[in-house]
Amino acid sequence: MSLPDFKLLRPRTLAEAVDGLGKHAAVQIVAGGTDLIPSLKQRLFSPAYVLDIRRIAELRGIRHVPGQGTEIGALTTLTEIEHSDHIRREYAVLHEAAKTVASPILRNMGTLGGNICLDTRCLWYNQSLAWRTSCSFCIKKDGDLCHVAPGGSKCWAVFSGDTPPALLCLEAELEIAGPAGTSRLALRDFYTNVGDARMRLAKNEIVTRVFLPECTAGYRGVYRKLRLRGSIDYPLAGVAVALKRSNGHIEAARLAITAVNPAPLLVSGVEKELVGSRVNEENAAAVGELAARTAKPLTTSALTPEYRREMIRVFAKRAVLEAGR
Ligand SMILES: Cc1cc2nc3c(=O)[nH]c(=O)nc-3n(C[C@H](O)[C@H](O)[C@H](O)COP(=O)(O)OP(=O)(O)OC[C@H]3O[C@@H](n4cnc5c(N)ncnc54)[C@H](O)[C@@H]3O)c2cc1C
Ligand code: SF4
Repeated sequence: MSLPDFKLLRPRTLAEAVDGLGKHAAVQIVAGGTDLIPSLKQRLFSPAYVLDIRRIAELRGIRHVPGQGTEIGALTTLTEIEHSDHIRREYAVLHEAAKTVASPILRNMGTLGGNICLDTRCLWYNQSLAWRTSCSFCIKKDGDLCHVAPGGSKCWAVFSGDTPPALLCLEAELEIAGPAGTSRLALRDFYTNVGDARMRLAKNEIVTRVFLPECTAGYRGVYRKLRLRGSIDYPLAGVAVALKRSNGHIEAARLAITAVNPAPLLVSGVEKELVGSRVNEENAAAVGELAARTAKPLTTSALTPEYRREMIRVFAKRAVLEAGR
């Protein structure tokens, strides 16, 4: 499949990038391109301009600022995260999640910013133009009906990134750059849970950095992922857990799920269930139940919603038991 026609913008600085986004209508950012390029070939987007941010050096790298936390540039590749001793030691759940993304070659190109801003996915949407033409288009692109939830007006395409649930457990914040300068936003407020308008990012804004606070450094972390193939595959259900333990008792606990809703979501009630106790079969099962209730999978992927919800329950229980051991 060929790429559609577009003009390529290649800024060297963040200021040039923001300027390019503001100056032109229909601009699409490309970082590693591992998700965007196949989508362009499928004609899921037809931008007049593509803004290639890879030459902006200030968006790369992992930096520990003692007393404050760790900053990760949006262009940092998933391989760099996987190979960072600092991330493995201090932010284990992010390390675990990053190394499950796609394949080594895709992780060499794929960036953390791209993983956070990943488009939502659906069986009826991630198809060629010919396929979509034959089935009639849907709300997410060029149509006015939803094949997954007919009669409704919402798009339920699923957020299918692996690192955002881990980042949610770590209380990550994003730095966003726009014409008025930079601002910070908690990752939990970044996603909308609407499949065809997935994130709170204006057309002229760009995600520049991720901040991991010092207070979540050292948490035990586990990430579990359901996929069709053992490698090179998006999650069809995913669970991230981060726990802080002291003398065998849980001091802090977070669990987030992915690939079963239009956004990655923190599961509420997990702290109440675990904090102050040792992890055991009963409280781990109760957390599994909370996670399964938060998951709202529909027929957007190759596995049934029932199975994906059940696997969220199973993975959540197992991940809590493992992290609490
Ligand atoms: C075969 C295959 C398997 C895959 N498996 C997985 C998987 O298992 N798990 C998974 O999570 N992903 C998977 N992916 C998707 C992809 O490889 C990763 O999500 C990767 O991290 C995307 O990063 P990127 O830099 O390549 O993003 P790009 O493709 O460049 O961009 C993705 C989206 O983010 C936007 N974007 C990128 N950077 C920014 C920024 N700084 N600010 C604002 N918007 C931005 C782009 O406009 C685009 O909409 C897979 C892809 C393929 C082709
Ligand atoms: S959930 Fe519905 S509207 Fe959204 S991509 Fe799938 S079929 Fe289209």
